[in-house]
Amino acid sequence: MATRHLLAAVFFVAIACGCAQVPEDGDTIFQVSTINALLEGVYDGDISLGGLKRHGDFGVGAADELDGELVELGGEIYQLKVDGLAYPAEDSLKTPFAVVTFFEPDNTVLSDRSMDYNQLKEYLDGLLPTENIPYAVKMEGTFNYVKTRGLPRQKKPYPRLVEVVKKESKFEFHDVNGTMVGFWFPAYMEGINVPHYHFHFITEDRKKGGHVLDCEPRNVRIGIDNSPALYMVLNEHGEFYSADLTETEEKKAELEEFME
Ligand SMILES: [Zn+2]
Repeated sequence: MATRHLLAAVFFVAIACGCAQVPEDGDTIFQVSTINALLEGVYDGDISLGGLKRHGDFGVGAADELDGELVELGGEIYQLKVDGLAYPAEDSLKTPFAVVTFFEPDNTVLSDRSMDYNQLKEYLDGLLPTENIPYAVKMEGTFNYVKTRGLPRQKKPYPRLVEVVKKESKFEFHDVNGTMVGFWFPAYMEGINVPHYHFHFITEDRKKGGHVLDCEPRNVRIGIDNSPALYMVLNEHGEFYSADLTETEEKKAELEEFME
């Protein structure tokens, strides 16, 4: 009897103190490689999209050999290529950098106010309970304007990302329905992921999209998924092993160029 009472007491204390539990899949962001490795030209992946899907149904990433960027929505992954079109991606395709989670919003809001990108970021900032954990952010609805870019496939020896960005193609959408899939990472995670917002857009008909450079939502449903756990898998090949992943002011500037 004494043991049973002790167990009951321990159980009660665990509930009463709200002790942190190991997060469920839905609260965990699964990440392949680091953003600084991508900056350094590590474009060969060794994790397949089929494998990636086991860790999330929502996310962003880059395709093998930087053959466009990726967006995952509802468990379907699309390759957003340099022509501005979205292609259903094969499970066998590999990714050198990806960030996914099982999207389960902790907070959902509707916004029918037209906002420019800076106003949107300020509005979203107000929905984040702290700047110290990452979030998955989904925005679905009608946009006055979206500007995206696509990156061209690369051949070895791979140039650094800042060189590839000079050859990006840009696309503009007006009065378009679609979904923004993205993440917000704390500034202290710079080097590992993109600090603050990073969105990829795909149209409602899943035919077009790309990395978001600018957007003006008009009528959208916004979901915020608090994600206090980060699970990282690093590439196991020579390119990753020999990349210089130290953080410098120059790389911070290069990342800003990549994002904008
Ligand atoms: Zn991107």
